[in-house]
Parts: sequence; C-alpha cells; structure tokens
Amino acid sequence: MGLVDSAIVRFLPAVPKPLVRRISSRYIAGEDLDAALRVVRRLNDEGKLATIDVLGEEVAGPEEAHAIATAYRDAIDAFERGHLESNVSVKLTGLGLKLGYELCRENLESVVQHAADHGNFVRIDMEDSSTTDDTLRLYRELRESGHENVGIVLQARLKRTLQDIRELADQSPNVRLCKGIYLEPPEIAYRDFDSIRASFVQALEELLEGGSYVGIATHDEWLVEQSQRLTSARGLAPDEFEFQMLLGVRPAMGNELVRAGHRLRIYTPFGRDWYAYSLRRLQENPKVAGYIAADTVGRLIPGRNGVS
Ligand SMILES: Cc1cc2nc3c(=O)[nH]c(=O)nc-3n(C[C@H](O)[C@H](O)[C@H](O)COP(=O)(O)OP(=O)(O)OC[C@H]3O[C@@H](n4cnc5c(N)ncnc54)[C@H](O)[C@@H]3O)c2cc1C
Repeated sequence: MGLVDSAIVRFLPAVPKPLVRRISSRYIAGEDLDAALRVVRRLNDEGKLATIDVLGEEVAGPEEAHAIATAYRDAIDAFERGHLESNVSVKLTGLGLKLGYELCRENLESVVQHAADHGNFVRIDMEDSSTTDDTLRLYRELRESGHENVGIVLQARLKRTLQDIRELADQSPNVRLCKGIYLEPPEIAYRDFDSIRASFVQALEELLEGGSYVGIATHDEWLVEQSQRLTSARGLAPDEFEFQMLLGVRPAMGNELVRAGHRLRIYTPFGRDWYAYSLRRLQENPKVAGYIAADTVGRLIPGRNGVS
C-alpha cells in the first residue's frame, strides 16, 4: 500500500458515511434478505457457494441479539425454499457476546440447531483478540454437547494459532483459515506480511495433517498457490477442502479457481449495519485512495461516473 493510501486508511473514519457507502457497495449484497438471496443465486449460477453474514456487531441489547439470531434462522429457511447453496457465518458479538456469555450461547445454539434441522452449517467468525478465548470455548462447548454442523475461524496473524490448532485437534475441527483483519498488539500478533504468510502456511499444514476440512480464506495469490501445492501433495479431492473469498474482492481470481475445479465459497454480507464491515474492507483495499478520489472527482465533474 502506498503512502497516500496508508494516510487515507488512517483517516477513513472521518470520511463522510454516504461516500463510504458508495465506494464500499460492491462488498455488501444489500440491506435485506431478498437482496442477499439474489446475490447467492447469481453466485450459485456461477458455480460458487456462499456463506451469508447478517451485519450487526454492536448490538445494544438482548432484543437486537435475538433479532440477529432470528434473521439467521430465516436465511436458513430461505436457502432451503430456494434450493440455494449457502451456509451462514455468525459473529458472536452480534449474537450478544459482550452482553453476556449465556445469552450468546443460547442465540448461537438456536441458530446451530436450526441449521442442523435443515441440513445446514454454521461458521463462527473470529473477531478481535478480546473475543478469542470465549469464541473457542463456545465452539468446544457446542461440539461437546453433540453439535457437528459448526465450524470455527483461526487467524494466521495471531501467535497463539498453532497452539489453538493443537488444542482443538481432538475435535477434528472444520476451520476457516484467514490472515486476520484486526490489528493486534505485537506481543500477541505478527505484524509483517511475510511472517503472517508463513504462519498461514504452517497452520494450513497442521490442519490438513490433523484431517481438518479447511476453508482457505484468502485473496493472496501466493497463498492460493501454496495451498494448491499442499492440498495436491496430500492427494485431497476437490470436496475435501474449499477456497473462500469475500464478495466484491478479486472476482476474476475466484472465477479462475472455479474453472480449475475448486470449490469456492463467497462471503456475502447483508443488512443495514454496513458501516463497520465496510470500513474494514476499505482499509484492506490497496486502491482505496484512488476510489475515494474517483468518487469525489466523479461528483465534482458532471458526466463522470466516479467509481467503476
Ligand atoms: C471468506 C473470508 C472470511 C473471513 N473471515 C474472517 C474472520 O472471521 N475473521 C477475521 O479476522 N478475518 C476474516 N477475513 C479477513 C482476512 O482475515 C483478511 O483480512 C482478508 O482476507 C485479507 O487478507 P488476504 O489473505 O486476502 O491477503 P491480502 O494480502 O490482504 O490481500 C491480497 C490481495 O487481495 C486484494 N484485496 C484484499 N482485500 C481487498 C479489498 N478489500 N478490496 C480490494 N482488493 C482487496 C488486494 O489485491 C491484495 O493485494 C475473512 C476473509 C475471507 C476471504
């Protein structure tokens, strides 16, 4: 990322919300379930799977957390009705983790049980490091109480991840492996690009060695190549792992993976609480300054469309 882009990233929270919304619209399926279902159908038609994220991380009270759990159950029903290939990704803060562990557990279990009743699967997203212990604990509790249709996310950025993989090994966990989006202190996290990549490869090796089904979640070409190397060296069949990418990020690369015969799942967020998610995506967009400039110029000079 260039100097201008990193400066813009620091000032993103000061960028007016309508502008953030316009330039981040490609990362969000829409505000309601119907819009998300249309995107899932299109992805399925392109040979891709989906996972739906109901946006909403800063719930103010138990009712909002219940409403998010209900929205997930509704989405699962809609996938079944529409014969859509999609599972769900939940954020524990959205299900009330910061309001109370038990409240969150009840909401999560209701979604996981509903998914099981409909032959579906729930991925628990991983948030910042203040939630890692609780997230892993809740995951283990669910698995130990008999729920099989639930998976976890591990972040290569965190130094603890290899140890977490070893501690989870008895569960043969279904894991989404990603770099990790949250900027964490250097005591607990790798900060430089190459160390995060190395940690990703090592974590993937350990997970495959332990027989885990892995969702390899990255848009980093080098990591995709390393993952293809590791999975084919093990002779894994196409249905024994999957690649995962975010809606609106490097779609051409995703098409390439599908053409090569890989399973690809697209993370598809929808909802009215689009702001925090959009900021994180823009922070990762290497061309963020260009997009902001194009949008602004597009609005100042009539006849230009702004963002492509
Ligand atoms: C399916 C999925 C689920 C995820 N779930 C979680 C989670 O639960 N917890 C968590 O902490 N993180 C999650 N992440 C985010 C992840 O941790 C990374 O922050 C993110 O994927 C960027 O890392 P990268 O591996 O793509 O590599 P990068 O090096 O960041 O990106 C590689 C290249 O992809 C392109 N790119 C990346 N992001 C963008 C963007 N926003 N806009 C345009 N181009 C872009 C750029 O060309 C960049 O050079 C998830 C990612 C995916 C794909």
